[in-house]
Amino acid sequence: MTETSKIKYQPTIKAQEFLDTVENPKYDRGMIRGLNRFLGDKLSEEMKAFYSQEELEELMNLKGTERDVEARMPVKITNHYFQLAKNSLPLQNLIKASPQETADLEGAPDPGKQMTYSPLEGLIHKYELGLIYVVDTCSAHCRFCYREELIARKEIKREDGTVASKGTAKIPELVEYILEHNKLVDENGGRHPETKRERLREILMSGGDPMVLPNNKLAEWFSALADAGIESIRLGTKELAFYPDRFDSTFLNMIDNFNSTYPNVQLRIMIHFNHPDEFLQKNEEGNYIDNPDGGLIWIESTKRAVKELAKRNFITIENQAPFIKGINHDSDAIRVMQRELKRNQVNNHYFFCGRDIVGHKSFNLSIEDSWNLLNDSQKGLSGVEASARLSITHYHGKTEVVAVTNQGIPGLKGSENGVVIFKLLRGAFDAPNKGKVAIVGRNPEAIWFSGYEDRVLYDEAGLFNESMQSTSSIS
Ligand code: SF4
Repeated sequence: MTETSKIKYQPTIKAQEFLDTVENPKYDRGMIRGLNRFLGDKLSEEMKAFYSQEELEELMNLKGTERDVEARMPVKITNHYFQLAKNSLPLQNLIKASPQETADLEGAPDPGKQMTYSPLEGLIHKYELGLIYVVDTCSAHCRFCYREELIARKEIKREDGTVASKGTAKIPELVEYILEHNKLVDENGGRHPETKRERLREILMSGGDPMVLPNNKLAEWFSALADAGIESIRLGTKELAFYPDRFDSTFLNMIDNFNSTYPNVQLRIMIHFNHPDEFLQKNEEGNYIDNPDGGLIWIESTKRAVKELAKRNFITIENQAPFIKGINHDSDAIRVMQRELKRNQVNNHYFFCGRDIVGHKSFNLSIEDSWNLLNDSQKGLSGVEASARLSITHYHGKTEVVAVTNQGIPGLKGSENGVVIFKLLRGAFDAPNKGKVAIVGRNPEAIWFSGYEDRVLYDEAGLFNESMQSTSSIS
């Protein structure tokens, strides 16, 4: 433990005045934690029936073995999500544990080699945007979660060779890091002297889901980041799907007071809807219901929360979600989702190819299927509705899957079955490679970059360059 980690956050007078206004109600999410709960007699018959006896037996037989599904990802569900999932197969697939998850345990224990980019416990610093883990759980747990190593508290090998579970960030340490980084950048003409990165301008609060923290903890993070000079705070959350009532008047008052105290700091709420069943009402036939005023009828609590957030001009709302087998491999559903979100002032930001997490083979669609899914879903959408891009996170940075062709490129050997074009959206270091592309021959089975290693046709982005895969030291 460093000296700084023992220090408590000391708010400025301005921050303290804001913090003094914060209310902290208790929330009852009706959470069910662990498969054992479905075996006991405390749950209603309806909830117990969420898993059949055969399903439970099969899962319990895996307990304690290397295929233990709860050791990979603990089971957790809110009552709100249960009520939606009982009438939705995609949502059941998102939240119900399955033996299939551990049938093939291939995958990276530290997806995206995040520890390589972690100069401080709980901080991933790749770009002008830093990501911090502020908590290691969510209201409910998606089975496909690409933070399963954090949430299941697995031990990870670190850069210095030590092995330990990932920890969360602490305010004093993070503030000190931001101030020091930005000071060095300013003194060095706009670039960090070693890493060449620009100022840290944005912080994404993530985890786990920050919205499981009480308002006062969120408020402390907000004021500390604002006082450290952060211009834009992102809050990554799936709480609109799991427990929309968390966006209550006390939370809204807190962000309003934050905005009055720090009017120049933007809040970007990065939400996570995988499927329209998470926010739209359905009739008895299972169809979405037309709203006589236009669009479709939303689940009331979710609609209220989105409306409240959207009417605040210091907030933007962006949806981003992975494409996952059995959950949202459905271009009609993804089309409905993009239309309805944009109609309600939620931007369609990214869809993601699944990450190479442990057990990813039971979740990930192939890269080419993912591209076709997004492309098909955007047919018939207007330009503003179809703004989402398909992204896959390479160790070198966020990468877009730009195009998949059905035809080869005349004269280009290896392209006969068509090509896939990747583009680096953001480089992990100085961003010199931003905008550069890689072109590979198609492999409809590929679910990760490794599936294209034997068919690289052109690689100015260095995505398949071995020497670029070993990252150098960073601060
Ligand atoms: S909400 Fe996000 S962090 Fe939480 S379990 Fe789902 S994917 Fe993981």
